[in-house]
Amino acid sequence: MPLVNLRKVLDHAAENSYGVAAFNVNNMEQIQAIMEAAIETDSPVIVQASRGARSYSQDNYLKHLMLAAVELYPHIPIVMHQDHGNSPKTCISAMENGFTSVMMDGSLLEDAKTPADYDYNVKVTKEVVALAHARGVSVEGEIGCLGSLEHKEPAAHGSKPAEAHDADLEQEPEPEGAMSHLTDPEEAERFVADTKVDALAVAIGTSHGAYKFTRQPDGEILAMSVIEEIHRRLPNTHLVMHGSSSVPQELQDEIRKYGGKMNQTWGVPVEEIQRGIKHGVRKINIDTDNRMAMTGAIRKVMSMKPGEFDPRAYLKPAKEAMRKICQQRFEEFGAEGWAGKIKPLSTAKMAKRYESGELAIKIDKSLQPA
Ligand SMILES: [Zn+2]
Repeated sequence: MPLVNLRKVLDHAAENSYGVAAFNVNNMEQIQAIMEAAIETDSPVIVQASRGARSYSQDNYLKHLMLAAVELYPHIPIVMHQDHGNSPKTCISAMENGFTSVMMDGSLLEDAKTPADYDYNVKVTKEVVALAHARGVSVEGEIGCLGSLEHKEPAAHGSKPAEAHDADLEQEPEPEGAMSHLTDPEEAERFVADTKVDALAVAIGTSHGAYKFTRQPDGEILAMSVIEEIHRRLPNTHLVMHGSSSVPQELQDEIRKYGGKMNQTWGVPVEEIQRGIKHGVRKINIDTDNRMAMTGAIRKVMSMKPGEFDPRAYLKPAKEAMRKICQQRFEEFGAEGWAGKIKPLSTAKMAKRYESGELAIKIDKSLQPA
């Protein structure tokens, strides 16, 4: 099957009460790791690329790597998603390069750091929805401002050491000088009505990168109740959790063991994500865990075999370490076994559905939590 629209995959996830991990990619080994995990578990795939990733890997390489995945595994539905599009222009160029889903992050201005007002967000998101839906491409919007609630200070600072700044977000940093604030459920409801987005990224206290929390987060630091309230108001909109790496202790230990420098940190516990999945979270963005897994594996080879200079000697274990994380997340989020059961539509057919407005999640109430 060709690359598929995000909406179709997430509708299926909603109808069957599971979540789909969305993994960021920059190169061939990462795409291979995700695909191997998806084959192993028969899970639908969301591969996403940030603007930084697109410029690192170049659109043509990325597009053809994704087409290779489709060719190799025709029975797995694969969504190719633009992560944090900063303008309609970025989203349009993604669509022109074969992306089947785009995120228009109008919560920030085009510089990707200055918080935008509601009207600006609606304006740019609506514009992208009109263009995307006409092509059968899905759209994720964002309302609220990502960042840890723990620090109560600008999200760009927190406990993040300067030298450990999240590389993926070098070009898309956390809003500078902006207080992170939670998504207001009432505003979220209005935003979806105004824009018709397929999926909505919500701010509940998670932040990008490895340095999310200085202790194991509890219900106060991570505002899961906000997710519950948004889902109650928007049962037909798929919620997206950004910055949802768990930053496992063993990966931190592995990096340190082989000479890496990482301060002790805590990520988003998998149980909290599972709780979110019970309340409308369908797409869970994970990047840091995979980066750490690859880095730990590469450090190990470099340290144990200093005479080694064949890149395959460290890229293979790096890929394997990432595959393990991806597989674990597919299983933990309940996506395992569903790939073969999704009947994807071509983007042309999706465009017709958008036009006719006949998109609704058909949820079996008996499967839903009370
Ligand atoms: Zn994000």
